[in-house]
Amino acid sequence: MKIWLDGGLKDVESARVSVLDHGLTVGDGIFETVKTVHGRPFALTRHLDRLTRSARGLGLPDPDLDEVRRACAAVLEAEPVPLGRLRITYTGGHGPLGSDRGDRGPTLVVAVGGTTRRPDATAVITVPWTRNERGALAGLKTTSYAENVVALARASQQGASEALFANTVGQLCEGTGSNVFVVLDGEIHTPPVASGCLAGITRALTVEWAGAKEAELPLDVLERADEVFLTSTLRDVQAVHRVDGRELPGAPGPVTAKAMRIFDERARNDLDP
Ligand code: PLP
Repeated sequence: MKIWLDGGLKDVESARVSVLDHGLTVGDGIFETVKTVHGRPFALTRHLDRLTRSARGLGLPDPDLDEVRRACAAVLEAEPVPLGRLRITYTGGHGPLGSDRGDRGPTLVVAVGGTTRRPDATAVITVPWTRNERGALAGLKTTSYAENVVALARASQQGASEALFANTVGQLCEGTGSNVFVVLDGEIHTPPVASGCLAGITRALTVEWAGAKEAELPLDVLERADEVFLTSTLRDVQAVHRVDGRELPGAPGPVTAKAMRIFDERARNDLDP
């Protein structure tokens, strides 16, 4: 399998990154997962904008977006997948042990992988840990995912496929790898970016296309919402049929089903919305 590493295509078996790369030693890195449709990236411009925002937030040099675009095209040409994803990883690069960065410059890796069809309605849990909406990493798509890994493992132990976090003031925030939406009296609401959630690209498209409104929501809104759904690059819009012990029979409900339809129609006609 071919991947892009620092300027060119390489065989994955022979591609080498330093064992002192800061992405590995201190989680000093950012990434993007980009869906591919018929072998072409979806919403790539938005993903590259967010990559730059995340780099600036972490104090990494701006990524060379021309190179990233070339890398995406090259790996997709070398590794065509009918339904897939591109993973763009950009790290602090080789550096000394410790938190100070070295001076060899960042590492860029672009890889392609397969994915599955959008999953059916799913169960989610809430977890007792919080997202820090005032933290240095709030809203950045960093490779520091260990907390998400722990939360997702707890979800999986409880027969759920996603875990939802509140922020430090008890407001609903997001999932480990998704944004969350609730339907109240026929209206769709989602937490604002100020809640500490990632500015999800699927979230932004759902706000635009399905008319969802941003609102601060207490975590217990999940106990009374008529419908709940998740958004992310690999899910698009995914209905939720259980939150903790509460069943939401008939998911997707009518509002979620309409949001799914709108998303599918718009996304089909516009690869770079
Ligand atoms: N929130 C987190 C923490 C994520 O990791 C992701 C995606 O991986 C999302 C939200 C959804 O963002 P997007 O729609 O851009 O994939």
